[in-house]
Amino acid sequence: MKKVLILFMGITLMACSTLESQESQAEKPRQIILLIGDGMGLSAVSTGFYYGDQPSVFKRFTQIGLQQTSTAKEKVTDSAASGTAMATGTKTYNGAVGVDTTKTAHKNIAEIAASLGWSTGVIATSTISHATPASFYAHVEQRGMEETIASQLLNSEIDFFAGGGLAKFLVRADSTSLLPLAEEKGFVLDTKQLAQPGSLEADKKYGFLLAFGGMPPMTEGRGDFLPDATSLAISHLSQNPEGFFLMVEASQIDWAGHANDFDYLVGEMLDFEKTIAAALDYADKDGNTLVIVTADHETGGFTLGPQVNEESGYGNYAELGPVFATGNHSATLIPVFAYGPGAENFQGVYQNTDIFHKMKALVSGE
Ligand code: MG
Ligand code: ZN
Repeated sequence: MKKVLILFMGITLMACSTLESQESQAEKPRQIILLIGDGMGLSAVSTGFYYGDQPSVFKRFTQIGLQQTSTAKEKVTDSAASGTAMATGTKTYNGAVGVDTTKTAHKNIAEIAASLGWSTGVIATSTISHATPASFYAHVEQRGMEETIASQLLNSEIDFFAGGGLAKFLVRADSTSLLPLAEEKGFVLDTKQLAQPGSLEADKKYGFLLAFGGMPPMTEGRGDFLPDATSLAISHLSQNPEGFFLMVEASQIDWAGHANDFDYLVGEMLDFEKTIAAALDYADKDGNTLVIVTADHETGGFTLGPQVNEESGYGNYAELGPVFATGNHSATLIPVFAYGPGAENFQGVYQNTDIFHKMKALVSGE
């Protein structure tokens, strides 16, 4: 009887462990799309609920968390330190890209993913050498070194990039052009337009540099660059059966916040929502894709207050009167939205560096 019981327990244990390993496999994504709204606080996230013409894309997320963004030295972060925190898991100083407080380089999540055979891509509506995208492929002491950052992009493992910043590759202080280096590194560059999804070859690398500086704001006719570049990147990178990591930045939510320009902000937010929807639609179809949406910090101290009567000071709560508290960044906690396999790991309140650690655990299966 005792032997039978032990045998039974053994079978049960084996069955459990098989189940567990199947479950953990099912929860490990093969692809990660990280979408960063630069300067996007909770009030910016809320704009679509009041100013969008369709239901907010944020309602589609199943797991929500909050991240704290202070740097190793400053309470209020810039995009370089927060980008580096999310990309490398290292708190550093404002201005640092991919290096810690001693200026030592740390491996970022795209480099780790590439070392495991994944394809990688970065997209931004700023120059592609700007602090946020740079945090996912470059290592420099100061974010202003954009020409160095541009050459580091071409020397990196990145397989796809799209954004502005052609000037950093062409009209440089050292008067060299980076176009020969791009060719040498196997990049097919296009400075005119995005390609059609499905038209890019699996074994080639692609770069789209569609403006000299940053891309134009939505209010000045950028059109569907960001959602289209995201769909194009997904169609190209998903040709790799090993997986891919893609970082997409809606860079100009931050610029709208600095300018305290409400129309600019809403235009950038609705464009970002469309881009997020493209990523979520792909994730729904694919089933193995984790989509994470967050920001690097809040900009503008933006809030959705009521319309205020200037004489009496009373608020008319029936109508909104959005206001900005600062032309700078703020230290408010930042929402994190996750969807797909592994999304549950992004619940809770944690540091921006944990975004890296959570992604790394999923990429490497630790
Ligand atoms: Mg940025
Ligand atoms: Zn900023």
